Amino acid sequence: NPQPMELELEKVYLPCLLVTKKRYAGYMYEHEGQAEGELDVKGVESVRRDGCPAVVKMVDKCLRLLFATGDLSAVKAYVLRQCDKLQSGRASVQDFIIASEVRLGTYASESSAPPAAQVAMRRHKCDVRDTPDLGERVPFVVVHSPNAPLARLKESARRPEELLFQNGGAKLELNAGYYILKRILPALDRLFSLIGVDVFGWYRLEMRRTLRTALDRAPTDRSYFKGTMLQYCKSEHCVLCDAQCKEVLCDSCAGTHALADFRAKTPADFRAKTPAHFRATMPADFAPGAPAALALRLRLRLLEQRHDALVRACMRCEGSHSRDVSCVSLDCPALYARLKLGRQQQTAIEHSARAERMLSLAGQSTSAFM
Ligand code: SF4
Ligand SMILES: [Zn+2]
Ligand SMILES: [Zn+2]
Repeated sequence: NPQPMELELEKVYLPCLLVTKKRYAGYMYEHEGQAEGELDVKGVESVRRDGCPAVVKMVDKCLRLLFATGDLSAVKAYVLRQCDKLQSGRASVQDFIIASEVRLGTYASESSAPPAAQVAMRRHKCDVRDTPDLGERVPFVVVHSPNAPLARLKESARRPEELLFQNGGAKLELNAGYYILKRILPALDRLFSLIGVDVFGWYRLEMRRTLRTALDRAPTDRSYFKGTMLQYCKSEHCVLCDAQCKEVLCDSCAGTHALADFRAKTPADFRAKTPAHFRATMPADFAPGAPAALALRLRLRLLEQRHDALVRACMRCEGSHSRDVSCVSLDCPALYARLKLGRQQQTAIEHSARAERMLSLAGQSTSAFM
């Protein structure tokens, strides 16, 4: 090389995390006078396509938080909040669909093939024409069943459709433990262990679980516990106030609470949209429990309205006149919202029916007040 050698300054990273060769992330400055750095990530989870979208989003957000604020407690709070969201069933399934490349015929044995391949093989068994090309990405989710745990990852990997189009209550749900312990935390750990942070420790020691909202809880399937003591002692949570109890409503909610009490206990949107005439039309001599029944019916009606709005939007999109929307586009966020509301609506119908049976209000019309 002729002397002197001239080098061009490409960019400056400040701050940055260097994981290994070709894997790093940092705030990048490319020219003088650049006021704010730009997040630049190479080879780390947040830019890899084979992961699950939730991991990509979280790694990206964590890096931004870290570089922008340098505040680890903000990162921690964010991570724990996301984990709680997943555990309490509030996360969108869409973010947890993993699409991995499958090469059928190249695995040593059927049982040792990776989850995506397991799913592809099951699909192939149902329909011989349903065979992925070599290297095609096959989408799957990892599920578990609250009442009958699935032991192995092999059985837990399912087509997203199996999770999404379940009839009659959620028998399967996203396997939060798998996603958190095998996907999210390891990805974060690879970055944060470099600066001496133990993200698994955050989760182990500081994770606080919030109770699922009544509409997102799996129905308590007593038949599963038949013949065991659990059949009798398994407790539930009141669907109105979350207190522990043995029935769908706690004693106090089943009693003669004033309606105003329920309004304080139900979700914000329910509170906001309760008709003003509601209290006024409530007869002074209402039956004990009638307010609870009414509160549940209002909750249901609200869900129906929101579900209906989504169904209409899909009907317009499909250009169909049928309320049975046939679209199964896994890429559309509306699909997930529509299915979720549909499921919550089923749950709400069930709550309402159980409550009215319990209060022996069945047959009596509470709708007169609505
Ligand atoms: S789910 Fe999305 S793509 Fe499908 S009909 Fe509804 S809005 Fe259209
Ligand atoms: Zn209660
Ligand atoms: Zn109560």
